[in-house]
Amino acid sequence: MNWKKICSFYGAVIWALVLVSSSAAEKDIIPGFLEKITDSNLSHDVFYLSKDPLPFRKANYAVAGHPLNSLDETDAWLEGQLQNWNYKVEREACEAQAFSCDFKKKRHHTYAPPPTNAPFYKVHNLYVKKTGRRCPKEIILLIAHKDSPSWIDSPGTYDNAVGTAALLEIARVLEKYQSERSIWFLWCNEEHRPWTSITAATNCHQRGDNLIAIFNTDAIGGKSDEDIAAGRKTNVTLYTMPEGKRFADLMAEVNETYKIGLVQSSQQRKRPGDDDGSFVNSGYGCAVVNIGSYPFTDAAYHEAGDKPERVDIVNVRMTAQALLAAVLRLDRAP
Ligand SMILES: [Zn+2]
Repeated sequence: MNWKKICSFYGAVIWALVLVSSSAAEKDIIPGFLEKITDSNLSHDVFYLSKDPLPFRKANYAVAGHPLNSLDETDAWLEGQLQNWNYKVEREACEAQAFSCDFKKKRHHTYAPPPTNAPFYKVHNLYVKKTGRRCPKEIILLIAHKDSPSWIDSPGTYDNAVGTAALLEIARVLEKYQSERSIWFLWCNEEHRPWTSITAATNCHQRGDNLIAIFNTDAIGGKSDEDIAAGRKTNVTLYTMPEGKRFADLMAEVNETYKIGLVQSSQQRKRPGDDDGSFVNSGYGCAVVNIGSYPFTDAAYHEAGDKPERVDIVNVRMTAQALLAAVLRLDRAP
């Protein structure tokens, strides 16, 4: 018996086990999560939210015979889905009015201030919050407005059933994920007045919430007829403050690393806009938005034709995957 040989054999075995286990520990878990986002789930949710049973999602419209207005019905459905995945949904109450419509104004921009006697509706921001195990005070916030245009009968599929569905799908995929940092989801209302993301951002600021990254998700996959004809899968990440640029760069990096296939670009906004703008205005310069094109070139933007049948669900899925990859990257950073 050659002890030297035996020792070196067992030594090699132990070393191999160490290597295997450490490479297992370092194995990138992100691709496995990206695979779980499916076209069929997204398509189902987008049709549910902008055709049947909910043709619109606005406080000033109820489906005939339904006790709740279509925005409250949207909230109830989202809440039910999230509870199925064991999330606790927090409601933040706000007051909002429907815009009025001025057809003399430029196409896509026919909204106008509500008349002085317009009723106020009680509407809600919906939050679900995963608490991080390592850095619970560092919060990654995902936002999407869930309402459809209040001043016209538009299903608002790109604007913004797609973002609503994308966040829901990400929440589903992360149900059992134990995050290192806190990951919050916020569904708000931006097609009524005032935007309820203003309430959300103001409250975050007053509580001193340490929001380290904020991703708004609005009209993902929405693009020009030319881009559609060319089969391009586009995404633009807009940032307002210089500190937002790193999140735009991160979107580009994960798109490359995970071979997602988006035609990804970024731009700096001239001034705060959309729901990310509400957070920028409250002092959170880390807020960015993912949108299908900028300037937004969807031909049916804010029109009755913004319907689910014309949505590029593959583009929506790719953007949702890139967003999820970016969130997991930030969450797992040392
Ligand atoms: Zn809009």
